[in-house]
Amino acid sequence: MPRDVAKAYKNQTRQKNGLPGKNYWQNTARYNIAITVLPPNRTVNGTEQITYFNNSPDTLKKLNMKLILNIHRAGATRFRNTTPDYITPGMQVDSIFVNGERKPWDNDKALGTNQDVELSTPLLPHDSLTLNITWHYEVSLKSEREGMIDATTFYIGYFYPRVAVYDDYNGWDKLEFNDRQEFYNDFNDYTLSVTVPKNYIVWGTGILQNPEQVLQPEYLKRLQASMTGDSVINIITPADLAKKHITTQNNLNTWVWKANHITDMVTAVSNHYNWDAASIVVDDATHRRASVQAAYDDTALDFHSSVKWARHTLDYLSHSLPGVPYPFPKMTAFQGFADMEFPMMVNDSHDEDIADAENLQDHEMAHTYFPFYMGINETRYGYMDEGWTTTFELFLRETEIGKQQADKDYARVRIKPWITDPSDSEDLPLITPTSELVGGYAHNAYGKASLSYLALKDLLGDALFKKALLFYMDAWHGKHPIPWDYFNAINTGSGKNLNWFFNNWFFTNDYTDLDLENVVRDNGGYRLSIKNIGGYAIPFDVVLTFADGTTQSIHQTPIVWQYNQKDITVAVKTAKAVKSITLDNGMFMDADISNNTWTSK
Ligand SMILES: [Zn+2]
Repeated sequence: MPRDVAKAYKNQTRQKNGLPGKNYWQNTARYNIAITVLPPNRTVNGTEQITYFNNSPDTLKKLNMKLILNIHRAGATRFRNTTPDYITPGMQVDSIFVNGERKPWDNDKALGTNQDVELSTPLLPHDSLTLNITWHYEVSLKSEREGMIDATTFYIGYFYPRVAVYDDYNGWDKLEFNDRQEFYNDFNDYTLSVTVPKNYIVWGTGILQNPEQVLQPEYLKRLQASMTGDSVINIITPADLAKKHITTQNNLNTWVWKANHITDMVTAVSNHYNWDAASIVVDDATHRRASVQAAYDDTALDFHSSVKWARHTLDYLSHSLPGVPYPFPKMTAFQGFADMEFPMMVNDSHDEDIADAENLQDHEMAHTYFPFYMGINETRYGYMDEGWTTTFELFLRETEIGKQQADKDYARVRIKPWITDPSDSEDLPLITPTSELVGGYAHNAYGKASLSYLALKDLLGDALFKKALLFYMDAWHGKHPIPWDYFNAINTGSGKNLNWFFNNWFFTNDYTDLDLENVVRDNGGYRLSIKNIGGYAIPFDVVLTFADGTTQSIHQTPIVWQYNQKDITVAVKTAKAVKSITLDNGMFMDADISNNTWTSK
């Protein structure tokens, strides 16, 4: 446990039983944001008032502001190369006031994605301050996560200056955004006004406050109908668009959105996208429905199925695993290029392969739980959200294309690139801070982390796994759990001390490789000597092939590696003559299968 984390436990902001401590706190803010977007002009103008509450026991002498779009500035530190179309002047702050006092600001010097603002009067514990900021920026022609989709379709993400997270174990979040790691945001209350020309439709996070002011009655009626029914309604079709009479015919319309206790807002605009919607009951106890929407170009065949797919996705996530009613009022699939989650709206690319498109949408929508419902610090602990999302994605795929094919796809896409690429960085411990990873990032955040969650499920069995997961989620949703909270919460939720297991999966440079060293005939069967060369506590099957050609598979859960034993004996009982025995790790794969089989002489 790093020293800063140990201090948090000592201060009782976090507890060893996996619950937030009696001194737990997190800061919060109210954001009132107004932006104007006038495509094809790519300049977005914004003003905001932020009321920031310091719930910490500390006196803050400065604020750290996040200006994520400075990633587009020439010379910004980026995870990977980019193209000239990516480059913009970044976030241009026109004015910034703290409690009415204008602060000096030089855009030429404010290069990074973190910018300090000194406070003339320190912000005391349990006090608040007000920021008023005006800014503008240029939507990039090409980007990883937000920007121009086409001349009149923009995806507007990371678009406003926000106060960075100040937390109990690390203070100000000073990690630079490098276009790889994603969210770590406070839970805030937002009002967002988006002003656009007539016949532009706006989609966004939250609930649209004024549909009757911006939509023509016919389309308003269709939108409202979608909120109460299961069937997909085409709110806006190409024929509707051709009439150029979609919105109120003012030169400009302002669409107002609200969302509370949420980690970010995103919005998107277009004058030629289709708009589909339906809804689904996500909470059986209260009969609460969530709205499911899609916005896309008519040529994108996959998106015509988007709402139908999303209804299944939200249904599964709400009722099966994790089995938490979808925690937001809405989800929109927006056709872009990023394959990126944002709260309540995903930015997904069009895919000619319909199966891949559904798979991708499942993944991005499943992110609702991690990092958004659970306030994961993804920049430092990416495996806490990508790993779970990759796992939920697998469960969803099993319901969509069958377990056999889904497991095969998962092994090929998520695990094989790691297990067949054993460079030094591939086997770095999962606990390695995400911000310190380059080569090993994808393997740690997605595949290896997901395997650890699948191994946990196999170890505990489905019912106890779900109980432990729900204990963790119940304790930490709307807060900022860190890996040690996860370990502790699963221990408490399962009623078991699994420290040996978490130590194995998170704190070693283990991988997956079993060796069937020896097989001896025994009373009533065979005794197998198995060496765990890779070291990970994985489940596996012992597959017996009999002399008569039939086979039998005997499952072993990770409990066989309890307390990190590496050499074990497994006894299998059979009266039949065995021709060969193979250790099959399934989707956990095996770095060297040449030593997995024993053949009778
Ligand atoms: Zn993801």
